[in-house]
Amino acid sequence: MKIKWIRLLKVVKEMVAQEVTITLSTSDQLKGLMSAVRFTKDNADIILSSSCKSVTQVLKATAHEVAHIIQNNDKHDEKFYTLWEETEEKIVKKYNK
Ligand SMILES: [Zn+2]
Repeated sequence: MKIKWIRLLKVVKEMVAQEVTITLSTSDQLKGLMSAVRFTKDNADIILSSSCKSVTQVLKATAHEVAHIIQNNDKHDEKFYTLWEETEEKIVKKYNK
């Protein structure tokens, strides 16, 4: 897979308006998750699992974590799933522009 990482980072930064890093990880700590995130109001570190095998999966996992940053919590309630979908649409659109 060929990911335009710099473009993806730019898209994410625009959406969350804070400093962001995106790291691809082989860590066992992800325990089967596609991704994880740590964030404060100023910084966010998105970790993507190396089990993301396609551009679609990378964008979906990134959108998941961006939705957590926007919602400012780690809940997976109904509102979250709607936000995740909306965020994925926006990211895909901007990424492919
Ligand atoms: Zn989550």
